[in-house]
Amino acid sequence: RKKYFIAGRMGLIQRSKIRELFEKAAKIENVISLGIGEPDFDTPKNIKEAAKKALDEGWTHYTPNAGIPELREAIGEYYKKFYDIEVPPENVIVTAGAYEATYIAFETLLEQGDEVIIPDPAFVSYIEDAKLAEAKPVRLPLREENGFQPDPDELLELVTKRTRMIVLNYPNNPTGAVLDKEVAKAIADIAVDYNLYILSDEPYEHFLYDGAKHHPMLKFAPENTILVNSFSKTFAMTGWRLGFAIAPEQIIRDMIKLHAYVIGNVASFVQVAGIAALREEESWKAVEVMRNEYNERRKLVLKRLKEMPHIEVPEPKGAFYIFANISKTGMGSEEFSEWLLEKARVVVIPGTAFGKQGEGYVRISYATSREKLIEAMDRMEKALEEL
Ligand code: PLP
Repeated sequence: RKKYFIAGRMGLIQRSKIRELFEKAAKIENVISLGIGEPDFDTPKNIKEAAKKALDEGWTHYTPNAGIPELREAIGEYYKKFYDIEVPPENVIVTAGAYEATYIAFETLLEQGDEVIIPDPAFVSYIEDAKLAEAKPVRLPLREENGFQPDPDELLELVTKRTRMIVLNYPNNPTGAVLDKEVAKAIADIAVDYNLYILSDEPYEHFLYDGAKHHPMLKFAPENTILVNSFSKTFAMTGWRLGFAIAPEQIIRDMIKLHAYVIGNVASFVQVAGIAALREEESWKAVEVMRNEYNERRKLVLKRLKEMPHIEVPEPKGAFYIFANISKTGMGSEEFSEWLLEKARVVVIPGTAFGKQGEGYVRISYATSREKLIEAMDRMEKALEEL
């Protein structure tokens, strides 16, 4: 009880810088947002049809807490088909998105004072989850010269007696980086040797470009990995709140206990639609269309950014983000984001929203129409030329 009292009074939960910038942008007319962290596509038709049919067929009741057995099976089939990994239904919990899966993993696995290694920069929720679990976040710097991949030696140096978990997220938000197989294996070895959990958040796994490959961490350290995934990005279903975690059976059982009294179960008809999403060919065709469109946008934005003065861009191979280096503008990330909003009416997210190491960068999302992206690039170029 005390914990939540303090949370309210002392600002345990940080107001997201992303939200602040959006609030400012909302007061200005004709703004183009490249700050968006979700697909701009509609959910594929067959998935929506499956949800409507499920409602008509009476999927309006509770389901087992861990999820409909058939959905847990479909998730296992999916890992077998795409990655040749065996995932029994007992190792799966269906959650309200990756957010919930991550939160319950932190709460279940970490005790007060445990250390959790969180990359810097990283998606914002891990730090907040660590605070809620009263665990101590230890930041592992990701550097542009390493392709924003963790350096296993540096990781090893951060491991102490209190370290319990390492967080990974590839394809990455905010950098768009994809994890090399060798780095993944090295981290898996460290986790096994030092008896650490790996929380691997993999919701962007289908958004890969230029032949990049994704390797689920389950492949390398199945006994140590809590894999988190989601329907949100893959099938453009952010508002449906459907995700899952895969972990050793005992961990899943513990996660179910917390999930059972918070969520109960994910909306029944949403789970039924999830089965259709995974099993029907039509949804995968839609994923392919979305991937191709993201790739065209990625190429467009990269080309334009490379032509702009003071901007340098590492080439991301995954997700739908570009982490542009703006340090040559002489401005810091936050200053640059505010300047760009005022001068060009374009929203980008300051890299510092994702950690100290994000200083000198801004996150540009291309989950926006090509037309808007072109207009945003024109505006940004003009502003930078006048700088
Ligand atoms: N993990 C990462 C890396 C994300 O970028 C997001 C959303 O932006 C989430 C998790 C949350 O996803 P979900 O909608 O599945 O809760």
